[in-house]
Amino acid sequence: MNCPVCNNSKNEIRFLKNGYRILHCLECDHLFTDFVPTPNEVEQIYSDDYFFKGGAGYDDYTLEKDMLIKRGEYYAGKINKFMRAGEVLDIGAAAGFLLKGFENKGWKGTGIEPNNSMVEYGKNVVGVNIRKGTVETIELEHKFDLIILVQVVAHIYDLQNSIDKIYNLLKPNGKVLIETWDKDSITARIFGKNWHEYSPPSTLNYFSKKTLNQLISQHNFSEVAHGTPKKSIHSKHAKSLIKHKLLESKGLKWMAGMTALIPGNMIIPYPSEDLFWTLYKKN
Ligand SMILES: [Zn+2]
Repeated sequence: MNCPVCNNSKNEIRFLKNGYRILHCLECDHLFTDFVPTPNEVEQIYSDDYFFKGGAGYDDYTLEKDMLIKRGEYYAGKINKFMRAGEVLDIGAAAGFLLKGFENKGWKGTGIEPNNSMVEYGKNVVGVNIRKGTVETIELEHKFDLIILVQVVAHIYDLQNSIDKIYNLLKPNGKVLIETWDKDSITARIFGKNWHEYSPPSTLNYFSKKTLNQLISQHNFSEVAHGTPKKSIHSKHAKSLIKHKLLESKGLKWMAGMTALIPGNMIIPYPSEDLFWTLYKKN
């Protein structure tokens, strides 16, 4: 498979993870998995287990509600410096908590999300407009002022067409906000193949600021601003992630029981050194 960012065929295998090859592009330095899921496989990857059974996904996604709403408000506040509140599309909206945060700051929100339970929860409990689908498959007539992909771009299996589609879904002067994990961060380098973001087949592309810019600028976007988000995490999610990592490691398996010592119901700060966001505008 050619590199999804620069389309070069020269690559090397960096390592194997969950039985998938993580390839390193020798031309642009992008890391990617050479796997394209079928629609059925997408259904399985983002089944309810992803959101509720721990492992590489979430222990119980709805516990993150207040935090994610705040995060939506935080981003809306940042973006309001560059544009007026208008219509926002959230790709990979899950239960719509981020969208709710944007709506609290005056935006009108629409979400798309592959998991049916999340779509129903978002519509019926959170009260936001969410449609079932993925960026690769959905057909929307409407155009938006802003499109957000928060921890979603790494999951997209058809990057070039998806970015084109995003471009076409934006109004003139529209903007796109992307938050993703940084493969060149200190955290990623320390953890190596055990870095949490290497979890194929859910994640397929592992960006740095440079490779994300390279991908997006090919589609007639230019950068407006970038930064590192403050992040907090519900301790139940942290527990599930840490336990999952420990159980994966032969030498550290015995420590997994110690995650019981982490309090089960509190918001804890989370180092976001390996996470970044960039705001782009449509040229
Ligand atoms: Zn490349």
